[in-house]
Amino acid sequence: MTTTRFAPSPTGYLHVGNLRTAVMNYLIARKSGGTFILRIDDTDPERSKEEYVDAIQEDLEWLGLNWDRIERQSARLERYAEAADKLRDMGRFYEAFETPTELDLKRKKQLNMGKPPVYDRAALALTDAEKDALRAERGDGVWRFKLDQTRIEWADGILGNISIDAASVSDPVLIRGDGQVLYTLASVVDDTEMGVTHVVRGSDHVTNTATQIQIIEALGGTCPEFAHHSLLTGPQGESLSKRLGTLSLRDMRAQGIEPMALLSLMARLGSSDPVELRSEMSALIDGFDISRFGAAPTKFDADDLLPLTAHHLQALPFESVADKVAGIGVPEDLAEQFWQVARDNITTLADLDGWWTLFRDGADPVIDDEDREFVAEALALLPEGPYDAESWGAWTSAVKEATGRKGRGLFMPLRKALTGQSHGPDMSQVLPLLQVIRAKG
Ligand code: GLU
Repeated sequence: MTTTRFAPSPTGYLHVGNLRTAVMNYLIARKSGGTFILRIDDTDPERSKEEYVDAIQEDLEWLGLNWDRIERQSARLERYAEAADKLRDMGRFYEAFETPTELDLKRKKQLNMGKPPVYDRAALALTDAEKDALRAERGDGVWRFKLDQTRIEWADGILGNISIDAASVSDPVLIRGDGQVLYTLASVVDDTEMGVTHVVRGSDHVTNTATQIQIIEALGGTCPEFAHHSLLTGPQGESLSKRLGTLSLRDMRAQGIEPMALLSLMARLGSSDPVELRSEMSALIDGFDISRFGAAPTKFDADDLLPLTAHHLQALPFESVADKVAGIGVPEDLAEQFWQVARDNITTLADLDGWWTLFRDGADPVIDDEDREFVAEALALLPEGPYDAESWGAWTSAVKEATGRKGRGLFMPLRKALTGQSHGPDMSQVLPLLQVIRAKG
């Protein structure tokens, strides 16, 4: 039975980078009929905020990425303390007292000597009396996990076979001096106890994975399958890390991006399969294959979401948008007709308002000087409404006859006079919806 989890820290709003992780874990779970857990990684009481816990859920709900279970790390601190005791008992956990400045100095010295900046394990040599003295002077130390200095290997679902020399990695700090359990330990305990079978996360976690594998083994757990997806970059390959704040899911929602547009992009971006717009989650689930993703950084361009959103909307049946159309005040008898006319000329649903305002109130006519006489003559030939699908053709034929104009010279001045714009839906469909023709004066 497959179990995956999406494990955001509630220290900010979800952004496209997080979303990639969420989508992959969600699709893997759903494809295999397994379980998808939303895990809130909130062991840091200072940075975690309830407001973000709520926002994460709202954003996932908006996208339809429903979870089967929600877990909060802050409610599981006892489990982590037990695991810590276990590691202590087996001699894999040791207290270290270096200050950040001392560690920094050590790192600099190592780098100067051309050595990798790996923690030198000086704390392992401390006697009990020395530890007591340090504790009295500096307070409790941090707790580090003692890595076995072997090679750590796994078959990564995206990166292929990985082999990391544990000697090149510092013994990870799992508990801070103030007693706060850090993510590395909490995550391992949760993954093991919650039966997580597949962990997909960003490639910035590769070194974590190496240490977590050893911690899981020390605790007698079973390692999940790991897959590390590449990080997103901007369209030019630039790092997105500083811009992710502006690529939050809630901003996208506010811009009118449609969930299926975003999900369709995320389910394929960086894979060898082309991005295909899907209208149903089930199609995304069926078409998802993690092994198709590559290790290379993946370019993300937020502008791609607009055409995808537009295409998604154009394909929607009226029923899907009936509430929205009613909400902007389109009378029921015109609602479906309005949708058929407007839908090919919108990028987001918000653009419907503009079209309805135009149809309802009429447009400020735009008439070029050289067309003034022509438009006046044409309008004199326009019968009183109501208009139907034939009215435009009949009217423009009569105008053609009377003025001798044809083609663009005939149609464009009339479009601009009636709608104030040089582009838009088919005029034979626009005319029946126009409630007021201001150009008629
Ligand atoms: N809270 C961690 C993060 O957001 C979770 C990483 C993981 O998936 O294990 O980076």
